[in-house]
Order: sequence, then structure tokens, then C-alpha cells
Amino acid sequence: MTIHGSFLPLARFGSDGVSVPRIAIVGRGFSGLMTAIALLRRVRTPFELQLFDPHPDISGGQALAGAQLGEILNSRVRDLSVADDDVDDFDTWLRGNASFRNAVSAAIPGFRQIFVPKGMFSDYAYQRFSDALALRHDVSIRVRSELVLSIARRGDGRFAVATGEGPAQTCDIVVLATGYGTMRAGSSPPPEMPGARPVRARRLAPCPHIVLLGTGVRVVDRLFQLRDGGYAGRITLLSAHGFLPRSHTRFAADPMELEGEIPHRLPEIVRFLRQACRTAEENGQNWQSVMNAFRKQARSLWRDLPAAEKRRFNRHLRAIYDSHRNRLPEPHYLRLMRELSTGGTVLRKGWAGSFSDDGVTVRWPGEAREDFVAASTVIDCRCAAPDLTAPPLSALLQDGLAMPDELGLGLLVNAHGEVLVGDQATANLYAVGPLGLGSLPDIDLVPEIVSQAYAAAGLVARTCTALASTG
Ligand SMILES: Cc1cc2nc3c(=O)[nH]c(=O)nc-3n(C[C@H](O)[C@H](O)[C@H](O)COP(=O)(O)OP(=O)(O)OC[C@H]3O[C@@H](n4cnc5c(N)ncnc54)[C@H](O)[C@@H]3O)c2cc1C
Repeated sequence: MTIHGSFLPLARFGSDGVSVPRIAIVGRGFSGLMTAIALLRRVRTPFELQLFDPHPDISGGQALAGAQLGEILNSRVRDLSVADDDVDDFDTWLRGNASFRNAVSAAIPGFRQIFVPKGMFSDYAYQRFSDALALRHDVSIRVRSELVLSIARRGDGRFAVATGEGPAQTCDIVVLATGYGTMRAGSSPPPEMPGARPVRARRLAPCPHIVLLGTGVRVVDRLFQLRDGGYAGRITLLSAHGFLPRSHTRFAADPMELEGEIPHRLPEIVRFLRQACRTAEENGQNWQSVMNAFRKQARSLWRDLPAAEKRRFNRHLRAIYDSHRNRLPEPHYLRLMRELSTGGTVLRKGWAGSFSDDGVTVRWPGEAREDFVAASTVIDCRCAAPDLTAPPLSALLQDGLAMPDELGLGLLVNAHGEVLVGDQATANLYAVGPLGLGSLPDIDLVPEIVSQAYAAAGLVARTCTALASTG
């Protein structure tokens, strides 16, 4: 059984001069920013918020920071609202944006079905954060440009959050939003993340061959950046499974009613899905509507799967599932297909080993020996799983305040963002976003992050209200 919203044990505020609960959010990517918005909107009592991240700005994290001009999100506007009580909030914001409205006037009266640049979404999320903050004169916020190194439970039940700069901060509630892996002290952001290092045509022009590792949306972003930057040489997309993102439909693919109940065992689920997609296409509908319906039930199906089947899914099916859920807008998909048809870009299936700027060692399917593929540049676009050995996660695991999920992909969490140890929630410790990828399907996508952030904020609100009434 999971205990929701466990109250702060023992401690009372005020012992160190702070008279309201202090909440720490570790990570200021989209998950951290979203959690801040949800807290500002849901917690009605005063609180102090500390936002930790070594990146000095509030940029939207890996997905949004430094996005190239024109680089667009692969979700429709209708799926990107940061208001859980208004699915059209992003659409409303876009309609109120005169320059955007003039640029895409054809879409008026609404933009729900279109795809927009990452920068636009980042602006929207930041604006909603500012709007929510402007309404809260009883909340103080400290933006701290520091890497959190450890989080430990104090004797009085509160948390000591240490950054290596100054004394540890005492916090009542901690939300981990460290996304795709924590950075160790002294490390710099991964250099090859999309947008992290703009590619200049001059530098790349003489390069005969670039290898991109991975086949997800990051690879496609990077491929287009290279071409848009003027690189005309050979590109190899190398991945273990070789599944590229599939296409969105031109018009919205609303979830369709699935015939019959979805089975609860992995092989039957796969058979059911295949048949449902075939039937939909025979009837003039599309597989995207089937997948959209399936994803609505993915959470309960995942919860019921035995651990061995979850592991099988992760080994053999996750890549194909990802290629069907992380879809490209149709024009991008068509551009990708054109790229591959010219022969200038090739997709190859193989396991990448060590790599440097000279090339990469690869084991091709069915071969025992490693081959070496020479390249002028190798760019790693694979999605890094959270590093559970990095601080502050390792400290939490060591102290028994958190445990890895069954697949070892991240922390064990529930849909409310509570960090679990077995079936018990660790009081006042939450994790929002991709840290929960082994526990909850699709928790790396905006709609799921939004709903988890609000669910966590609801529990934090209960805790703060209870404390305010007893204080
Ligand atoms: C290229 C790309 C495109 C995407 N497109 C879409 C899309 O179209 N639709 C959709 O729904 N989703 C999309 N996503 C997925 C989704 O937006 C991301 O999963 C989400 O943005 C995750 O954000 P995050 O804040 O959890 O993680 P991150 O962006 O990784 O941010 C984590 C932050 O935590 C900080 N941090 C880490 N460790 C510490 C520490 N110890 N102390 C302090 N700070 C720390 C890091 O510096 C970082 O800023 C995309 C993702 C990517 C990468």
C-alpha cells in the first residue's frame, strides 16, 4: 500500500528562523519548472521555494534549452498545456501572441493541431511560471545556480540539501527533477545534446563522414541541424535496434475505441495491438489512433505486468514502442525519408562500442567480432538513463530513502511523484519526470510530466495545509 501525502514527521518550522515550509526543487528543466508552476497554483498556504540547478537560467532543460531557430516540438499544441484544468491553455496563449498569430494566420481560429518551435513552448512555460508567481505575494523564491551534491534526512525528519557552497539548506519537502541523468560536480553538460553546440557549416564542410549514435528524435534533430548548417557529406545513423521515429498523421489522430479488452500479458498485448492497427487501416483509420488509445491505458497495463515481462519489454520492445510514440510531424518525417532515399544518409543496425572523433567500434548483428567504422566526427544522440551512482541519488539510495525501479532505469516512484521504498512512500520526497521512466510509461513526455507535477503538488498542498493549521 502506498501512503499518499505523509505529513512531515516531528519537525516544526521556525527552529532555524524560517517560519514557512521550505520546498526544494532539484533541477530547473521542464520537470522542475512545471513542478514550480503546479506548487504555485495548488499550495494555498505561504511557502519558500528554492530552485537548484547549475545552469544559471531557467531554460527548459535538455529538450528546450538552446533549441535551434525553427526546431519544432514533436507534440501537437493540444498536448502541451501546462494547466491541468485547461487543455487549451497553450492554444489560448498562442492566440494571444500577435506575432505568432500573424505568422500562422491560416490556422486561426485555433492552433490545437499544429506543431510549434521549441522556443515558443519554452516561452509559454516560462510565462505561465511568471503569471503564477505574480499572484503569490506570500511565496518567496530563490533561484540557486548550484549542483546539489547530497540530500540527507536529518534527525528531526527534515532534509539537509547540500551543494558544496555554504552550509546545507534545511528543507521540509524535496522534489527531484534531475531528468536525464545528474551531472557530477565539475562536469559540463553533455556537449552533443541537440542545440548544445551549434554546428557551423565552415567547420564541417571538409568532413567526409559523420556517425550519429541513436535513432530517436534527438538524432533526427541533429541530422537536420547538420544539413541546415550546410554539411553535405555522408551521415550514418547507427543504433542497436534501427527503429526511426514514425510519422504523425496530417490531421489529429484522436484515440479510437478499441474493440475488446486489452490483454494483460506482453505477447498477447503485442498481438492485440498489431491486429487493432491492421483492422484500423483496413477500415480507413490509422494506427496512430490505435496507439493514442493504447497509451491511455499504458499505465495500468505496465503496473500489472510481471517484472520478467517488463524486462523483456525493455530489451526487445521499448525501441519500437518509442518509435511509435515519439512521432515526427509529417513534413519532418517526409524529409527524413528523402534523406535516406538519397543514400547520403544511411541507417545501420549495430551495437556501438567505444568511440572517439576518429570513429566507432561496432558489432553488427550476427557477428561476434567488433568492426571499426571510421568517421570524422561521432555524435552521441542516445538518451542517457539517470545515473543512480551520481549524487544526490546515490546518497538517497544508500540511506534507504529511495530505491531503483525494477528495471534499474531510475527511481521507484508512483503517479503522484512520491519516491517509494517497496510499497511505502518516503515522506516529503518526490521525483517528477524521466527519473520515473522504469516505474511509469511515458513519464518523459510533457502531458505525463504535467499530470505528475500537479498530483505531487496536490499532496504537498495537503501537507502544508495540515502544518499551517497545527502551527
Ligand atoms: C530533443 C528533445 C525533444 C523533445 N520533444 C518533446 C515533445 O515534442 N513532446 C514531449 O511531450 N516531450 C518532448 N521531449 C521530452 C520532454 O520534454 C522531456 O522529457 C522533459 O523536457 C524532461 O525534462 P526534465 O526537466 O525532467 O529533464 P532535463 O531537461 O534533463 O533537466 C534536468 C535538469 O536538472 C539539472 N540537474 C541534474 N542534476 C542536478 C543536481 N544534482 N543538482 C541540480 N540540478 C541538477 C540539470 O542541469 C538539468 O537542467 C523532448 C526531449 C528531448 C531531449
